[in-house]
Amino acid sequence: MENKNKIYIDAIKKIAGSSKLLKDEPMSRHTTFKAGGTADIYIEAENEETVKKTVDFCRLNNIDYYITGNGSNLLVSDDGFRGLILSTAALKDTLEVNGEYLTCSAGYTLAVAANKAAENGLGGMEFASGIPGSVGGAVFMNAGAYGSEIENILQSVRLLEADGTIRTADACELELSYRSSNIGALSRVILRADFKLKKGDKALISEKMAELNLKRRTKQPLDYPSAGSTFKRPDGYFAGALIEKAGLKGFSIGGAQVSEKHCGFVINKGNATSSDIFNLIKHIQKTVLINSGVELTPEIRLVGKF
Ligand SMILES: Cc1cc2nc3c(=O)[nH]c(=O)nc-3n(C[C@H](O)[C@H](O)[C@H](O)COP(=O)(O)OP(=O)(O)OC[C@H]3O[C@@H](n4cnc5c(N)ncnc54)[C@H](O)[C@@H]3O)c2cc1C
Repeated sequence: MENKNKIYIDAIKKIAGSSKLLKDEPMSRHTTFKAGGTADIYIEAENEETVKKTVDFCRLNNIDYYITGNGSNLLVSDDGFRGLILSTAALKDTLEVNGEYLTCSAGYTLAVAANKAAENGLGGMEFASGIPGSVGGAVFMNAGAYGSEIENILQSVRLLEADGTIRTADACELELSYRSSNIGALSRVILRADFKLKKGDKALISEKMAELNLKRRTKQPLDYPSAGSTFKRPDGYFAGALIEKAGLKGFSIGGAQVSEKHCGFVINKGNATSSDIFNLIKHIQKTVLINSGVELTPEIRLVGKF
């Protein structure tokens, strides 16, 4: 944080209240890649008020801030983040079912949300149960798998707007499309989401979730840290197949490797730095472009300077 000084830290501590606040916190502890340098300040906000007051404070004092969820789609620079990282992963005040609606605070994992739906005989969220993100991050990313995505089930969200107001917005106001939304561009923070699901058979819903999760375990390199699919699916192709065709299966730079199990995943084979991962991503993009003429776009989000 450029203006890092005791006065700011003391003020932020007051705002954070009982929420976890850590100084010079290694982001390798908060990302599934298990890589990345320190954030000057890292806060896990436990309630909406802390989110709002922290964001307001950062804006007022020109402190750079970045919102995270579970860190399962992030690559944080080895130089870390000069400013404040606010995670919504501890926002867990609401998890309730009302008829065909499931309402969850942003911090619940998709696994918990999908299980809650299943327990209540609500189907439609099975696809999400194995995605290791939070509800907030999944809405931001319009996360999806096995032919479905958040857009198909999201009804509305409670969000913090850039001007400091908290309001309910219809899903259509988020302009969700393939792994994309306007949430980042409009500096919005997702606080809660309402999903519209469908009544179904509890046993069948649980069975489908188990089947999809088994598929995941069989096909994906879940024994190694990663951020899931490194690249978006290019129109008409599969990123993993293009990467394999370019001869990059198992190719490594430092501790970062193209997974031998699924070429669409860059994994941290052990002690990879974020630079290793970033350089490997660049190398894959260059090689695939030469080999197939297809431009791969990263799905993972970069935080800090690269
Ligand atoms: C093993 C593995 C498998 C995966 N499989 C899939 C898959 O099948 N499908 C898929 O789509 N993804 C998959 N992913 C990627 C990742 O889990 C998803 O993108 C997930 O939705 C990210 O959620 P998160 O809470 O971890 O968000 P983070 O990674 O913390 O953040 C992602 C983005 O969301 C923003 N954000 C997070 N929370 C909020 C909030 N409350 N308000 C506003 N912005 C917010 C951040 O600023 C960031 O830009 C996988 C990842 C791993 C490690």
